[in-house]
Amino acid sequence: MPIYEYHCTNCDRKFELLRSMSKMDDDTSCPECDSSSKRVLSRFSAFSKGMGGLTTSLNSDGCSSCSSSSCDTCH
Ligand SMILES: [Zn+2]
Repeated sequence: MPIYEYHCTNCDRKFELLRSMSKMDDDTSCPECDSSSKRVLSRFSAFSKGMGGLTTSLNSDGCSSCSSSSCDTCH
């Protein structure tokens, strides 16, 4: 089974859970305070899918001040 990441907004805790894919978007209970917690995207997919300009400094396609793959400030 794949691992999904969940976030409890009550105690601000993140935890991972093994679940079947059909249940991945269901709310689950926080292991700390038992509040309902929603699934969050993993760090990898959150950064690779549409966080706009924030991705530029995290990938290898250059930095925010250049459009090529290398410049004085990023490589
Ligand atoms: Zn909690």
